Amino acid sequence: MVQENLKTVRERIEAACRRVGRDPDEVTLIAVSKTKPVEMMREAYDAGQRDFGENKVQEITRKYEEMPGDVRWHMIGHLQRNKVKYIVGQTALIHSVDSLRLAETISQEAVKKDVTVPILLEVNVAGEESKYGVGCDEAMTLAKQISSLPNIRIEGLMTIAPYVSDPEENRPVFRKLRQLGVDMKGKNMNNVNVNILSMGMTGDYEVAVEEGATMVRVGTGIFGERDYSVKPLENR
Ligand SMILES: *Cc1c(COP(=O)(O)O)cnc(C)c1O
Repeated sequence: MVQENLKTVRERIEAACRRVGRDPDEVTLIAVSKTKPVEMMREAYDAGQRDFGENKVQEITRKYEEMPGDVRWHMIGHLQRNKVKYIVGQTALIHSVDSLRLAETISQEAVKKDVTVPILLEVNVAGEESKYGVGCDEAMTLAKQISSLPNIRIEGLMTIAPYVSDPEENRPVFRKLRQLGVDMKGKNMNNVNVNILSMGMTGDYEVAVEEGATMVRVGTGIFGERDYSVKPLENR
């Protein structure tokens, strides 16, 4: 099932790219494997999938041991500062940086480990109260502040769009994030690249790709519905 789903999602990404004249190689599919067992992740891995997204530090560190070494781990969930030390050096990209304090902690840990940590700023484009992320205006200030920290590098922006029944409703959200990226690029800040736009999930990734997403985060569409009432297999 996983391999068929993956194939379908990849085909849809390619179709979305064709509709707007983009090169599908510009879009990285992140398979969001949170709550799912490594057995399912291996199925995806065997079909060529290398980028996996998780939203809990404990889950990344546990699965990290069990999956092949060339997996690229993406931290896409809210990150607590006291857990930063466990994932710096293990993750390819932290998508969810939304405060200067968190960025400072990442920077300090990165200096300690002598690595440079690529991050995205999480932007709450739609201004939903229930979501993490900074507002569009704050994002520019935060980028400027982070740009002066050592061993941390902003690579782009991430957003979690609202849950909607018609993905078209999120098109303006994706457009706004892309525009923010263009504006940020225009400021030419040190250590700030805006090459990555991480936007789009199972319900709306095709629209996100049409609007310029370079990373889409798809969970349900690859691994099926998540069941939060049972512990993942490998916890038993
Ligand atoms: C869970 C999650 C996803 C994937 O959601 P699906 O709707 O299952 O595709 C994407 N991004 C973030 C930040 C998530 O937490």
